Amino acid sequence: MHIVADLHTHTIASTHAYSTVYEMVRGAKAKGLIAIGITDHGPDMTDGPHEWHFSNLNIIPREIDGVAVIRGIEFNICPGGALDRMSEKSLEPVEFALASFHDCCFAPSTRAAHTEALEAVLHDKRVQAFGHPGNPKFDFDMEHIISQCNQYGKLVEINSNSFAIRKGSRENCTEIARLCKKYQVPIVVDSDSHIEYTVGCVDNALEMLEEIGFPEELVVNSSGERLDEYFRGRGLTLFG
Ligand SMILES: [Zn+2]
Ligand SMILES: [Zn+2]
Repeated sequence: MHIVADLHTHTIASTHAYSTVYEMVRGAKAKGLIAIGITDHGPDMTDGPHEWHFSNLNIIPREIDGVAVIRGIEFNICPGGALDRMSEKSLEPVEFALASFHDCCFAPSTRAAHTEALEAVLHDKRVQAFGHPGNPKFDFDMEHIISQCNQYGKLVEINSNSFAIRKGSRENCTEIARLCKKYQVPIVVDSDSHIEYTVGCVDNALEMLEEIGFPEELVVNSSGERLDEYFRGRGLTLFG
């Protein structure tokens, strides 16, 4: 198994990331990817960009140097399951949205509080995927949430970066992937890269998925056809 697109990456618009859009595209091209999602943090993160970053995303060309660029956001899940405070208008250009827990916007709490927040996100039509749900600080009722993902059209992300930076993530991500397999929930495998050199680096995640015999057909970004089909389903033509 391999990926053809990395749908979760950050640019210098979030100041703890270090490459420009062009550099991230160059990183994707160097890895042989055909598409990249630029998903900077929502404005509620301390160093996230102003909401104007998102309202102007449509000036980024659809394709740069043969790599399709998907305009995205990584929302911060806030207490109760609210997302970043921003206008609907500023989100108009956004084509792919992840929603994730980050300590700065949601202090790790109880399993019930995390599950309740994720349940609210499940119903939020602005969100396409749960970002790094394997984070052990945000324990939740995995079966309860994952079993409902198809009903609400949500993807689950297996975030390869988590394996390296969040202790205990491997076990959680394995359990999440097993449940996605059980409930036939499509996933995306991403790097969460914050610099050009790590775009497309998802070996840890792929190794785990292979270990549990995860079906390739359920990995949206594992082939050009599957990726194209997913975005066409959202009314977006990525290629040609
Ligand atoms: Zn994140
Ligand atoms: Zn991220």
